[in-house]
Amino acid sequence: MTTDQQHFDSYFKSRGGLFDFKAVGGNALLRKILDSFNNQIKRNNSENSKLVIPHIDIINNNELNACAAKSNSKYFIGFYLGAVYVLKDIFYRMLSNKSILPNIGVIDNETNPIIFNAQITSLNQLFLAKDPDEQIIPKDPVRMVYADVLHSHALNFLLDHEYAHISHGHVDYITAQFNANTLWEISQESSMETLFSQTLEMDADCSAVNSGIATILEAYQKSSFLPVHLRQYYSNFDESLVSWCIAIYTFFRIFSFADDHKKDIKTQTHPNSGLRQSIVMATIATILNEKFNSRILDNFVKNIGRITDTVEEAFSAISHQDYNPIAFYNAFRPEAQEHVHYLMKNWNNVRPLLEPLAMKNLPPLNND
Ligand SMILES: [Zn+2]
Repeated sequence: MTTDQQHFDSYFKSRGGLFDFKAVGGNALLRKILDSFNNQIKRNNSENSKLVIPHIDIINNNELNACAAKSNSKYFIGFYLGAVYVLKDIFYRMLSNKSILPNIGVIDNETNPIIFNAQITSLNQLFLAKDPDEQIIPKDPVRMVYADVLHSHALNFLLDHEYAHISHGHVDYITAQFNANTLWEISQESSMETLFSQTLEMDADCSAVNSGIATILEAYQKSSFLPVHLRQYYSNFDESLVSWCIAIYTFFRIFSFADDHKKDIKTQTHPNSGLRQSIVMATIATILNEKFNSRILDNFVKNIGRITDTVEEAFSAISHQDYNPIAFYNAFRPEAQEHVHYLMKNWNNVRPLLEPLAMKNLPPLNND
């Protein structure tokens, strides 16, 4: 173990500590994910020397969770092991189903594996719910690579979100104000006032959308240099964006429930999942409107229905759950939109608090 790993291990001891790669024979998938995370952050860091490089590692815990933290002036991003494998399972399960994205690869040999509940947030639940001999891997190689692309989009979104908690000064702020040190994605309690916490989460989501679009744009511009098996997923920007949205919508869909609107939307640590899905879509439209030509924006707006239908139909196709996009639709109820508007206005109160601690330029104040 390196010194940083020892520090990480002891900081997250009560959550499971550092996941030991050696115990599973040096897991190649996890190493690949961590390497690509680290490279991505070093690339961003090379353009701005104020940015810190956190230690990113896997916490040996089967739940789906992630966090950004600070301990003795070292920054950490921790992913639960469950986050990596629960997400892998859902994307592999989706692409193993003939009815989902049938235009990708050849569907003939796919086996349509069904699980009772697609909204699984822990490896323990997953092991109980699935046939132990069941190997969920898309049979068609093109579909398998596509599932990996969706998986990496979702994990990178989580990484960018956690990194924004650090680079936008959120972690330093909560450390100074609340002696809290760690921002967890799934948390029942928080020392922060929830509307303040939700504003930070919205900021981190918007930052992750910006990074995601920048990443697929770069892959599109350099698609001829990508490994051959990946080129087709990045050679058309509009379609790359659709894939990216399918991945992120799926990630939030795991946590979105039809009765979310019955809970008080103001008292949770994060905006509810349907709201986050709608905030992601709105942020993309804003970026496309500011930085891209109108044809790309028009195509994206036309594709939103295809993105949401694909994922909503997928959740019903891979499980015994009915087709039910109500949680996303609820985000457009007047009280939900009013809440989003409140969070956007609240950015004007939160931004000045973060500014002295931020390592990069923060998004501007909202004037309208
Ligand atoms: Zn967060």
